[in-house]
Amino acid sequence: MLIKFLGTSAGCPTLKRNVSSIAFILNNPSYEIWLFDCGEATQHQILKSCIKITKIRKIFITHLHADHILGLIGLLTTISINKSNNLLEIYGSKGIKKYIKCSLKFTNSYINYPIKIYEIKEGEIYNNGIFKVKCFILNHIIESYGFYIKELNKKGSLNVDKLILDGIFPGPIYKIIKNNENIILDGKKINCCKYIKNIIKGKKIVIFGDTSPIKLYNKNLLNCDLLIHEATLHHKYKNIANQRGHSTNIQAAYIAKKYCVKKLVITHLSARYNYNDLKYILKSCIKVFPNTFIAYDFYSFKI
Ligand SMILES: [Zn+2]
Ligand SMILES: [Zn+2]
Repeated sequence: MLIKFLGTSAGCPTLKRNVSSIAFILNNPSYEIWLFDCGEATQHQILKSCIKITKIRKIFITHLHADHILGLIGLLTTISINKSNNLLEIYGSKGIKKYIKCSLKFTNSYINYPIKIYEIKEGEIYNNGIFKVKCFILNHIIESYGFYIKELNKKGSLNVDKLILDGIFPGPIYKIIKNNENIILDGKKINCCKYIKNIIKGKKIVIFGDTSPIKLYNKNLLNCDLLIHEATLHHKYKNIANQRGHSTNIQAAYIAKKYCVKKLVITHLSARYNYNDLKYILKSCIKVFPNTFIAYDFYSFKI
């Protein structure tokens, strides 16, 4: 899948960085998109990217602070204008239903496509047999969630070269072997496992909403392929950051190190930081956790 950052600034936008939003473009036949947070003007960022607004199928909101949600109503109404018939599912903390309902009412807006809103609590919130999403509570000044996205393991494909080498040629028998069913061919029992390649391990991704460093052990993070963590302030402002329910760059790096994650991306950096500050912030993270990257608007990568 492709991950694209649409907004990376904390609290308010800057000329170069919009407020929070991250898009996941899934590698399924319909290339559906999942959004994580939808700060003000996220739809403007979408217009500047390769993302098709009608492909958005799920929106996960980490918490109800303005810099994470103010773009939601505009986006929902634009999807209406773009005439979509697809179901859109929105996941957020308690109050999100009322927020959406009231905002639509007082702006005299309407939605002409199916929509479902879920008020989430810790635990599994989605599982379609391909992806599983769990959420867990963080340490912020209001209810804020982290999301754990697990791509389920895929069955290994058939080792056709080996089959042919052993004189088993393509045909309906391949399906039987792939299903690992017992089979006798020319009087000989076939060991199906021999012809199935290793399981393809699904990726594990964790996205944090706003939080000061988590204190309780969280097994979801262990060895995950990607951790996206907020780093609102530089570590010299540790006390202010933590009092406001935020983390510093170094604290994010220590979480990544503690849980042996494979890659850390820091985002949600204060609007006060310019390009040079951000370079410096990244450099000090790398000293703690070498595989750290800093997100900027439209930064994207495959995972
Ligand atoms: Zn925020
Ligand atoms: Zn917040």
